[in-house]
Amino acid sequence: MNEEKIKVLVGKWNYKTRKYDDYELPKNCPMMAGDNEIVNCCQCGKPHKFGEMFTSKEIHNNIGFGYPTCEKCYKLEWDRQKESKNGK
Ligand SMILES: [Zn+2]
Repeated sequence: MNEEKIKVLVGKWNYKTRKYDDYELPKNCPMMAGDNEIVNCCQCGKPHKFGEMFTSKEIHNNIGFGYPTCEKCYKLEWDRQKESKNGK
């Protein structure tokens, strides 16, 4: 039997290495919530209504689902993605 503690594996995509870096989620950052529930952005940790958030392009669980991120951080994710494509 594998006795290792089971924890949710969360990774943050690193455009430079093209791998996931280990990432520690802010508190109260569930993947699913009601639209009017207040949850914390997976990037900046600030509270927002779940229904007004986006799915992160960078912070994923071990099967590739994204965590909720606020609009501001989502725009920054787009910028980083664009940058990494232009750099190729
Ligand atoms: Zn944010």
